Amino acid sequence: MSWSAPGGPGRIAGDGAVVARAPAKINVHLAVGPLRSDGFHELRTVYLAVSLFDTVTVRPGDGLALEVAGEGAAATTGPDAVPADRRNLVWRAAELLAERAGVAADASITVDKSIPVAAGLAGGSADAAAALVALDALWGTRATRGELAALAAQLGSDVPFSLQGGVALGSGRGEQLSPVLARRRWDWVLGIAGEGLSTPAVYGELDRLRAAGRLPGGEELTPPEPVIAALRSGPVAALAAAVSNDLQPPALSLRPPLRRALRAAAEAGAAAAVVSGSGPTVAALAEDEESAVRLTAALAGEGVFRTVRAVHGPVPGARLVG
Ligand code: ATP
Repeated sequence: MSWSAPGGPGRIAGDGAVVARAPAKINVHLAVGPLRSDGFHELRTVYLAVSLFDTVTVRPGDGLALEVAGEGAAATTGPDAVPADRRNLVWRAAELLAERAGVAADASITVDKSIPVAAGLAGGSADAAAALVALDALWGTRATRGELAALAAQLGSDVPFSLQGGVALGSGRGEQLSPVLARRRWDWVLGIAGEGLSTPAVYGELDRLRAAGRLPGGEELTPPEPVIAALRSGPVAALAAAVSNDLQPPALSLRPPLRRALRAAAEAGAAAAVVSGSGPTVAALAEDEESAVRLTAALAGEGVFRTVRAVHGPVPGARLVG
C-alpha cells in the first residue's frame, strides 16, 4: 500500500478538533448462504445508508484515549455495552490506520452515538468508518478512498459500506461492494424494540434452525435484483413486495416479541416491515415523508418500541463535518 508522506493536518478546527460522521444502514435485502469453512456466511445484501448518524471527534493527544457518549454509553454489560478500550472498533481503526501509515497512534477520540447499539444498524461500523476519515485528516496521512476502503474491510464486514454510503450491493461477507442506483428518496421509520441482539448469536440461531430442517439451507441465495430494480425508481409497492431478510426468522426465534413489533408496524400503515440486519430494529417502509411522520407518531404510541425514528436514504457515507 502506498501512502504519501504525512503532509500536515487536514481540516482542523481552532481547538485542534476534527469531526466526522457516518450513517446507520438498513439491509433492504439480506440473503445468507451456508456457513463457509472460514466461519463466515456468504452474503448477498443490499445496503441503504439512512439519515441517523454517529459523530466521531478526534483531537491531538498522547497515545490513544477514547470516550463514548450518547445512545448506549450507560450500558456496562450485555450486547448493548460499548467498550471504551481496545475492543472498540474505533480503537482498532486508529491502530490500523497509524500502523499502515507509519505514524504514531496519538489521538483523543470522542464517539457521540445516536445509532442504537447492537440493533442491526451497523453503529460500530459507522464509528470505525468515521474514525478512519477523521484520523486521516488529523494525522495528515492522506489515504486515498481506496486505501481507506481496504482498511475498512479488515475492520469488519459492514465498515466498507459505512465508509461508502448511498446504496450498494454487498457480496462475500458483505464487504465487496458494487454501487446501486437509487433515483429517489426512501422514507423509513426505525423502531427499536427491547435490548440489543448479538449478531453472532443470530447467525448461530440461523445455522441451528437450518440444521434442524426448520429453515431452507441457504444453498440458493434469494436474488437481489427485484430489490435493486425497485430501489432505482419505485414505486413504493414494488420495494415493499421485494424486501427480505434471512436473519429475520432467527431474530424472531431469539426474540419472540419482535413478531408483535412487526405486526404493529404493518397495522400502523407501513408499506412493509422487516427486521434490519440481525435485529432487533424493525424497519418500516413509508409511502413518503408525510406518511413517515404519521407512522412515527403511531408507532411511538404503541408501547412496543423503546425508540422510534423517522429516517430517509440514501445518504452519503463517512464524511468530515464543518
Ligand atoms: P453488526 O454490524 O455486527 O450487525 P450491529 O449493527 O447489530 O452489529 P453494533 O452497534 O455495531 O451492532 O454493535 C455490535 C457490538 O459491537 C456491540 O455489542 C458492542 O459491544 C461492540 N462494539 C465495538 N465497538 C463499538 C462501537 N464503536 N459502537 C457500538 N458497538 C461497538
